[in-house]
Amino acid sequence: MNGKSLPVIKVKVVVVGDAGVGKTSLAVRFTDNSFIQHYKQTVGASFCSRALDFKDKTVVFNIWDTAGQERFRSLVPMYLRDAGIALAVYDISSHKSFENVESWLLQLQQYGPRDLKCALIGNKIDLDDLREVPTQEGQLVAEGHGLYFEETSAKSGEGIDKVFNDIDPIEV
Ligand code: GDP
Ligand code: MG
Repeated sequence: MNGKSLPVIKVKVVVVGDAGVGKTSLAVRFTDNSFIQHYKQTVGASFCSRALDFKDKTVVFNIWDTAGQERFRSLVPMYLRDAGIALAVYDISSHKSFENVESWLLQLQQYGPRDLKCALIGNKIDLDDLREVPTQEGQLVAEGHGLYFEETSAKSGEGIDKVFNDIDPIEV
């Protein structure tokens, strides 16, 4: 629990990546610890949040979900405004979604705040039989861009809390 003296910090988290990679599912798993097989495609602004206690602070992660912008491969600048963390997500069973990550990273670089912390996330590791992107390939791209890297499954929950625990958004 949050001790009385712990500062509470709010951080805006944006999730980018191709349609279908599991952005909404990741957000729901992290904030609601649940998984629904069939979501309607996200329409309109969507928002959810969860607080995590760190050693020296409590961080409230306010997660913004794209409103179908991924279809146009371009982000509304407002979406990135004041963001502290960006998760660039691909689906490990879709090499195409991995290739497209580069263009998402470019947009984060161009339109995101200068101090934005970016993470590369390979989602759907429960689909290992269908894997098209080796772990090492993801690691290499992450290293090349200086990004935190993690593989996750919104379905099983694997890796997701780790992402948020490991990305220390703000040093107090
Ligand atoms: P978004 O378009 O990026 O927001 O993707 P969604 O969260 O809507 O997910 C697209 C589809 O992939 C849905 O049918 C989800 O149930 C499925 N999905 C999302 N994450 C996972 C995962 O980790 N494993 C599996 N097997 N399916 C997933
Ligand atoms: Mg969605």
